[in-house]
Amino acid sequence: MLRSMTKCLLTNPVSVCRRTMSHSSLVGKTAIITASTDGIGLAAAEALGQRGAHVVVSSRRQVNVDQAVSLLLSKNIQVTGTTCNVGKSEDREKLVQMTVEKCGGIDIFVSNAAVNPYFGNIMDSTEEVWDKILDVNVKAAFLLTKLVVPHMEKRGGGSVVFVSSVAAYQPMQALGPYSVSKTALLGLTRALAPELAHSNIRVNCVAPGVIKTRFSSALWQNEDIVDEFKKQLAIKRIGEPAEIGGVIAFLCSEDASYITGETIMATGGISCRL
Ligand code: NAP
Repeated sequence: MLRSMTKCLLTNPVSVCRRTMSHSSLVGKTAIITASTDGIGLAAAEALGQRGAHVVVSSRRQVNVDQAVSLLLSKNIQVTGTTCNVGKSEDREKLVQMTVEKCGGIDIFVSNAAVNPYFGNIMDSTEEVWDKILDVNVKAAFLLTKLVVPHMEKRGGGSVVFVSSVAAYQPMQALGPYSVSKTALLGLTRALAPELAHSNIRVNCVAPGVIKTRFSSALWQNEDIVDEFKKQLAIKRIGEPAEIGGVIAFLCSEDASYITGETIMATGGISCRL
């Protein structure tokens, strides 16, 4: 085995190097990641940046953008930052336009932003709650995809990843509308994939379990809830943002060149079924 590998390296070093290095490499790619100044979005930006992509990070607050840009620069990642509230159409357009102007195009889009303004029985949730959740978590994900696709087509293809949740499969108690919005992203992934395959654009989704971020702090800071969750987990711990960032980077890379319309569940082994 070792002898044949050595012989192959000696006879064809360039192709071997290309095979081992280039499929996960994102050198030369530009990636927009929404809600990327903290948590899973920031981890995704770091994972894509470490593989060579120029990452465009954004969120609502300039102070958070500045902090994320400094952190990524300190890790030698090529990064551009701007504010963008994905719920606002002018912000979405600004994000895409700025990226094209500064980076020359778009290859990767990670739709990570989500809100949850409501905890309680689903039957008590109001129209305002539904409007906010669907606007940010679902509509903005689609409308941003619509804005980036023409730029991906100019590059000859691209990759879109939606960030859903384990709650898409098993609605979480008191998080009914949020859970439904995450189920909608599974449908959006499957609806877009065949249509965008014609443009060489792959569309995939990741469904994280409970990950240690500010968003989920009410869950992981409560020991009783954590103990309850652990009963469902095969890997008996809460996940880290980097463990989702790596999955996103894989889906965006050539390693995933034959994967589209799929959702990868990264839940520590919680069984998921619709
Ligand atoms: P997080 O650590 O709390 O980070 C949230 C990020 O979103 C921040 O950068 C925040 O910055 C930004 N943001 C909030 N509202 C925004 C908006 N309207 N437009 C643009 N940016 C916005 O959250 P996270 O846990 O990483 O969550 C990221 C994604 O993972 C969400 O889609 C969430 O549903 C999903 N998810 C999380 C978990 C989990 O356990 N953590 C599990 C499953 C799925 P600003 O305040 O500056 O806007």
